[in-house]
Amino acid sequence: MHQEPNQTPAPTDTTHLNLAAVVAALPDAIDQAMRNTLPGMYTPQLAADLAAAMTAELRNPQPADCPVFPGLCTETMPDHHDHSNHEHTVTNKQGEHLLDVGFVQLSDGGPAIVYIGGMSHEDYLPEEVRPATAKLRQLLDEADAIADRLLADRTEARRG
Ligand SMILES: [Zn+2]
Repeated sequence: MHQEPNQTPAPTDTTHLNLAAVVAALPDAIDQAMRNTLPGMYTPQLAADLAAAMTAELRNPQPADCPVFPGLCTETMPDHHDHSNHEHTVTNKQGEHLLDVGFVQLSDGGPAIVYIGGMSHEDYLPEEVRPATAKLRQLLDEADAIADRLLADRTEARRG
């Protein structure tokens, strides 16, 4: 992760002012909210951990979306030319890769592709089958969603 050098925000930069105020208020707000809404789960440590995680998230916002395939492409380099998403995968019990679907659009002018791959095998007890197939179905639905998205983008490009 790259770290921004400490920059003094311009006086008109209300985002920075609001962020500082939110970060300062977060620990108490979360502590109070957890006591009120999750009394069974509340511990001071858990509330503090949550506040720390949220503060880290606020201070390091996600990099800007890919301008070509926003919400789909997961490349984070500014001005990248090869677009892809390799984040959808199902692993076996050992954490090894079982099946994945993904998306790639290279800058060589070729078509955008959706891949489905990496099938190995794993043995399941009967009670383990449905949780496993549910994950695989969800993964294949993801492949459909990516394909639909690419087809919609293509239709859009033809119109524009
Ligand atoms: Zn991209």
